[in-house]
Parts: sequence; structure tokens; C-alpha cells
Amino acid sequence: MIDTAHWFLFSGNKLLVQDAAVPYYTADQPPVAIVHRHEIGQVGAAVCYAAAVVPDTIAPDGMQFASLRQLYGCLSDEQFWLAARAVQIVDWDRTHQFCGRCGTHTETGATEHVKICPACGQRNYPRLAPAVIVAVTDGDKLLLASNVRYRNQEMYSVLAGFVEPGETLEQTVKREIKEEAGIDVENIRYFGSQPWPFPHSLMVAFTADYAGGDLVLQEDELRAADWFTADNLPTTPTPPSIAYDLIQAFVQQHQ
Ligand SMILES: [Zn+2]
Repeated sequence: MIDTAHWFLFSGNKLLVQDAAVPYYTADQPPVAIVHRHEIGQVGAAVCYAAAVVPDTIAPDGMQFASLRQLYGCLSDEQFWLAARAVQIVDWDRTHQFCGRCGTHTETGATEHVKICPACGQRNYPRLAPAVIVAVTDGDKLLLASNVRYRNQEMYSVLAGFVEPGETLEQTVKREIKEEAGIDVENIRYFGSQPWPFPHSLMVAFTADYAGGDLVLQEDELRAADWFTADNLPTTPTPPSIAYDLIQAFVQQHQ
């Protein structure tokens, strides 16, 4: 018997929150009508469910629907990463209602996250787009760039890019850094990984050493890029991004 549950409820990609937290409810009582629930994990004794609310649902009094970008840095880390999982499951559910091969209405698997076509047997799992994110250093300097997509033009971060079919992660690192910044790198070393729900990435972080070439920016990607020492960094990402972790690791090594 479940006493309490976390309901990660989405209107589109916006999460229902109360005071920047995901509210508790008894398991069988979400506060609004839902389409279909997915179990996504557990916090203590509470089961976590993800679900889309029925269209045009209005947030109950004292609550609001907010995007994960708005909630980034506001939710607890535990709730943010569960919400990151939840939004991807709900989005996958919403966008895989029909078989991509034959158009038949799909059925949701009972024991795993899979959409099965009852006519042709096609199975579709939640999408994940792996991407690399790389801290390139040259001695005591770190390469940071301002991406054209950053809303804050003062923001600089480490370089990142999506893995292409057929590539190893190391090949992606070399290709992306060459394409975006014009330089070669070597000594590519794994740093860590992080799910990234904007909209369905898996960030795989590396460090690498500068190996040659001049900075030549891919202008449709980068507004600016430069080498920075640890005591003279520009505005950089905040937690819980792995970009923050990469930059902090550099700072700790070079203080
Ligand atoms: Zn089918």
C-alpha cells in the first residue's frame, strides 16, 4: 500500500509545482485529471509518477505550471533530475501515439517504457540524443565560448555538440572542437555524464588538451570564444549543469 506519491504532472512541457517544489499526494489522488501515468522511480517511501494532464487544465489554487528551464536551480537537485526524467517520458508518450512505420495506434508496454505497434510489432523506446561537452585546456588556460543561442550574451561555457550516427564519442570531441573553434585536441579523457532534458540529451563530458591550430569560430554557432585563466573567468553556467562541474574542476586545478 502506497501512502504518498510524487506526481510530476505536465501541461505540455510545463511541470505543476507549488512553492518551487513538486507536491506530495496520496497515490490515487493526483490534483488534476491526467491522461496516462508512468512510474518513474521512488523518493524514500514515495513512488514517483509522471503524467500529462488533460488538455486546457488550469493549475489548482496556489500552484503553477512552470518550464524546467524556469525551475532550473529552484527545485531540489533530486526533484530536478526526477522532473528531467519525467518530462522526457511524458514527451515520448505524447509523440509516439502512432506507429512510425504503419500508422497504427500504439500500445504502451506494461513493464518497461516502450510503445508497441499491435499491427506490425514495431517497438519505440524513449529517445536519447548523446552529446559531448568538452573542457579544452592549454596549460593554465581554458577555452570558453559564447554560443549564439545563449540568451545572456555575457555567458561563456565549454564547447558541446551532438554525436552523429557512426561516431565514437572521441571522434565527436575532435570533430566538434575542430568545426566550432578550428583547433585540434589530444589526450581526451572521460570526466562524467549527465542527463539533459532540453529536450532529450545525454551529456557526456570530457577534458582535452589543445594540440594545435588557431581559434577560428564557426559563426553560426559561436558569438565569441577565448582562452581564460582561472582567476579571470567570464560569466559561466550555474549548478546543476555538468558544464559548471567541468569549469569548477579546472578552477580547482589551477588556483
Ligand atoms: Zn506498425
